[in-house]
Amino acid sequence: MALAAGSEKQVGKLVIRNVGLMLSGDLARPILDADTVVAEGGQIVALGRFADCDTDGAGVVIDAHGCALSPGLIDSHVHPVFGDWTPRQGQFGWIDSFLHGGVTTMISAGEVHLPGRPRDIVGVKALAITAQRAYANFRPGGVKVLGGAPVIEKGMVESDFVELAAAGVTLLGEVGLGSVKAGYEAKQMVAWARAAGIQSTIHTGGPSVPGSGYIDADTVLEADADIIGHINGGHTSLPLSQIRCLCEGCGRGIEIVHNGNELAALSALRFARELGQLDRVILGTDSPAGSGVQPLGILRMIALLASVGDMPAELIFCCATGNTALTRKLDCGLIELGRAADFVLMDRAQHSAGRDLLDSVRQGDLPGIGMVVIDGIVRCGRSRNTPPAERVPEVIQ
Ligand SMILES: [Zn+2]
Repeated sequence: MALAAGSEKQVGKLVIRNVGLMLSGDLARPILDADTVVAEGGQIVALGRFADCDTDGAGVVIDAHGCALSPGLIDSHVHPVFGDWTPRQGQFGWIDSFLHGGVTTMISAGEVHLPGRPRDIVGVKALAITAQRAYANFRPGGVKVLGGAPVIEKGMVESDFVELAAAGVTLLGEVGLGSVKAGYEAKQMVAWARAAGIQSTIHTGGPSVPGSGYIDADTVLEADADIIGHINGGHTSLPLSQIRCLCEGCGRGIEIVHNGNELAALSALRFARELGQLDRVILGTDSPAGSGVQPLGILRMIALLASVGDMPAELIFCCATGNTALTRKLDCGLIELGRAADFVLMDRAQHSAGRDLLDSVRQGDLPGIGMVVIDGIVRCGRSRNTPPAERVPEVIQ
């Protein structure tokens, strides 16, 4: 199913009841005392116990049958090109496959895989604006792709960023993937972008593929981008001592990705926890990449960080939802009134050793997804990609 954002039909009232575990995405209160969520016009309008919620006039009613509900997962780092095609590994339908991994929003870190991508400034701007428009108009599987992330090149001036922002561009692609590699040069452009309202991210660590660059901790700190992109490398990591410097030396977003070094991922999580700054930790896949496309990449990161990282699973779900939404200033990612009705319903996978969903994730198993909702519309039922969930939600009206 591929939906164009502009052609979605009017969304009526959606009621989801019998939720067994309501994960909020909010670190301060990761589990809510609620079994029902009501959405209207694509937004959450009521939340709580079924008897206390106004459920009259529902167009769609879903019995969750005790499944857990989480905000839709947000992939903070992807490299889309156009539509649901990636030239990196020659695959179609990769974004739709991520929907089946619970991802409802993805954020471009640059459309860098476009064959023959322009590097002259007019071309860089034209590509970013085109990608932003194209993904605003077309959502593969219903997934919200925030595209149009220009990779900065030498020679860009302040008015370029003002022009990009006025055209609707809200993100910079990974700093360091273009000709701007020095800290002082990046710092100037990142500041121009920020002043224009454009958020930035920077490549961290060794080159990802031939042609990509090496960026060390001093350069990352000097550039001062909003997000320390793949702090655990993509895949080659900085030494752990430099990762500690990055966590301690600034207050920017700590992005941990699937396409990175797992030891560095766990270390970055530990440094953030020791600093009492878990709210800075956000998750991405960095796919498509040399390592491929990972439809379950965000779920795999959650399971890795909760199990080997020895963290309560409900807190790690926040790193993949609310933390990213707050860092990226998105209207989704939290189960809260007025937020986008983007949900993942899931349960313990069949035959997991864990006694319930959170315990199974703590033991390193992936959840089984039973349904994904975006903007109050059911986008898929039982996932074709996760292990089968023990219980699955049912549309009863
Ligand atoms: Zn990178």
